Amino acid sequence: MATVHLWTPRDISFTGRARLINCVIFGMYTYYASIFLLPTEVIGKITKICRNFLLEWHRRVQKVGIGIKGLAAWNKATIAKLTWALAKKEKVLWVKWVRERNPQACDWLGDPDCKVAKGYKWRRETQRKVPWIKLIWARPNVSRNAFISWVLIHRRLPTKQRLSKFQPQIDNLCVLCSVQEEKEAHLFYTCNYATTIWNELRQWWRYTSEVHNSSQLLRNLKHSKGARTLKQITSAIMTATFYYIWSARNHMIFKKQQIKAYQIAYLIKD
Ligand SMILES: [Zn+2]
Repeated sequence: MATVHLWTPRDISFTGRARLINCVIFGMYTYYASIFLLPTEVIGKITKICRNFLLEWHRRVQKVGIGIKGLAAWNKATIAKLTWALAKKEKVLWVKWVRERNPQACDWLGDPDCKVAKGYKWRRETQRKVPWIKLIWARPNVSRNAFISWVLIHRRLPTKQRLSKFQPQIDNLCVLCSVQEEKEAHLFYTCNYATTIWNELRQWWRYTSEVHNSSQLLRNLKHSKGARTLKQITSAIMTATFYYIWSARNHMIFKKQQIKAYQIAYLIKD
C-alpha cells in the first residue's frame, strides 16, 4: 500500500486513478486474495486507502457505485474457485470424507466449471444496489461526467453552502447569477444559468425531464418507458450537463472566466 502513497492524486485524472487502482493495486491484491481468505479489517483498510486516493478530498463515500472492483467479493470468489479445484480431487481421502459427511453442502462443487468472474458477479449482485447506478456508469457516459454526477447525487460536491459549514466567513453567493445562495439545488436546477441550459436541452432532446432533484431525475429516467439505448443517451446528456455547470462555476471562481449558458448547451449537444 506504500505504492499508493507515492502517487500524487492531484496530477492524475479520475480515470487515470481508477485505472491505477484496478490494474496495479488490484494486480497485487489478487496474488494474496487467490490463496488466503483475507481478514475483513485488512480488506477494509485497502479499500479505504484506494478510495481516499480516488476521491482525495472526499472521505465519506458510499460503498457502491464507485467504479472500482469490490475487493471482499473478489477474494471470496477466488477462494471459492480454489476450494472447488481442491474438491475436484475426488480420490483424496479428506475430500471423500467431506462429501460423505455433508453431501448437500457439496452440491455446488459438482459444477463442471467454476469461474472467478462468475462468482464475483453473483456476489456483487447480492449486495445492495443503487437503482440508477448503471445509468451513471453506462458506456456512453464520459468518466469525468459520470464522476461529477456521482458525487453530486451523493450530495458531496464542495458547494459554497457546504464549505460555509467549515469556513463561516465565506461568500455564499452563486457566481453564475450573483443573486442567490450557492446550494446544489440552486446551482444545478433553479439558477437562471442552469434553467437556460436545461430549457435549451429539452427543446433539442425531449426525453430530458423537468425535476429539481438529481436522484429523482435518474430514478424517473430508470423507470421511464423506452429503449435502453435511449435511456443511456439521456443519462449521458444529464451527466454532461452536471459536469459543464460545475465546470462553468469553477471557471468563474478560479479563473475569473465566464462561460455563457448557450456555449454550455452547444458543448453538450456537440
Ligand atoms: Zn445562481
